Parts: sequence; C-alpha cells; structure tokens
Amino acid sequence: MKVKLVADILDANSQLARQNRQMLSEKGILTLNLMGSPGAGKTTLLEQTIDVIGKAFKIAIIEGDIFTTRDADRISQKGVQVVQINTGGACHLDAGITGRALQKLELDAVDLLIIENVGNLVCPAEFDLGEDVKVMVASIAEGDDKPAKYPLMYSESSAVIMNKVDLLPYTDFDMGRFISDTRKLNPDVRFFPVSAVTGEGLENWSNWLKELIKNKVRQRYARGTKGA
Ligand code: MG
Ligand code: ZN
Repeated sequence: MKVKLVADILDANSQLARQNRQMLSEKGILTLNLMGSPGAGKTTLLEQTIDVIGKAFKIAIIEGDIFTTRDADRISQKGVQVVQINTGGACHLDAGITGRALQKLELDAVDLLIIENVGNLVCPAEFDLGEDVKVMVASIAEGDDKPAKYPLMYSESSAVIMNKVDLLPYTDFDMGRFISDTRKLNPDVRFFPVSAVTGEGLENWSNWLKELIKNKVRQRYARGTKGA
C-alpha cells in the first residue's frame, strides 16, 4: 500500500512537471533546478551568476525555502524578478507548487529561470519540477563523501558546482575521489570548481550557462513563437 501511494504521488508530480516544461519551452526559457545542502552556497552563487550574466540575459528566480524569505530578499536586491515559495515545512519543491509560482512571474521577457530548491540532499532529486537541467551545488566544507552517500542527487544533475574551493587547503577534501565517485554515477556530468570569495571558476560556469541559454533561444526563434 505504501509503495503504491508513493508511486501515485510521483505520477501526479510528473504530469504537472510536464505542463510546466511545456509552458516554459514554448516561451523559450531555459530552466534550472538548483539543488544542494543547506549552506552549500546556492543563494550566493545565484547572486554572482546574476552579476555576471544579468545584463546580457533576463533572469527570473524562484526561491524555495521552508520558512523564511531571507534568500528572496537577497535576490530581489539584484533587480531581477523573484518569487518566494515557503513550503511550510516540506523539505523539497514539487511541480505543483512550482507551477503556482510560475503564475506569479512575468515570463514573456525571461531567458533564464533558476529555481533554488530547498536545501536538502535527498528528496529534491526525486521531484521533477519541469526544468531543463538539474544543477547541484556541493561545497568543499561538506566533505568528499557526499556523492557516495546521496547518489540520486549526483546522478540526476547535469552539472556539479564545487563551491568554496578556496577552503581546499584547510580540509582533507579529496578532489580526485569526489570526481571519480560522481563520474561512476554520472559519466557525462560537468564539474565547475568555484569560489564565491575569489571569483575563481565563475567565468567557466557562466559560459556553460550562456551556451545553454543561447541554444534555447535558437529553438525559440526556430519555432517563431516569440520575439521574431
Ligand atoms: Mg539559499
Ligand atoms: Zn522532501
């Protein structure tokens, strides 16, 4: 009975995720589901990503949080559209709650939508929100054993940002082990070592994002549904 119930929930979620994906695709919006543990640096990375590419591309943000609006307050300082979702205790976002947040955004001029998921290494990976890609923010401070301990997160992500690389000299983090454990789960994953403090790696990450956005925009023009 319990297994059946879980399957039904995920089924209903996939259906709503498909609707979100179709709507976002029609508008030619590249959508990222940004996942990671609390404190990995998701919001800081968002702020920096907006600084680097926010002039060239129109960005909108959905902030998932269990209770507070702190992250949304930080992001709104950057002058981009932001919608806050408070899950009221739930430890992940789902496609239904994401769909309701989408209705609050003015999406016609948006190139890139980033959904910051609730800080959690387990269930966010199980819920499709309708995104194009899942991106994981891992931090050096969390230790190199996380891909082995939380494999679904790492196998579902198209890219893994290794944040806080400036801390490497002060920890026993084994970069080789982290990368090989992740590759075992996900051979095609991209790695972006990044430091919010020094700015290292932000350019590589931003260039990858820009390519994805441009591809999406090309598809939009190819269909002639927007802007042409
Ligand atoms: Mg955050
Ligand atoms: Zn959860």
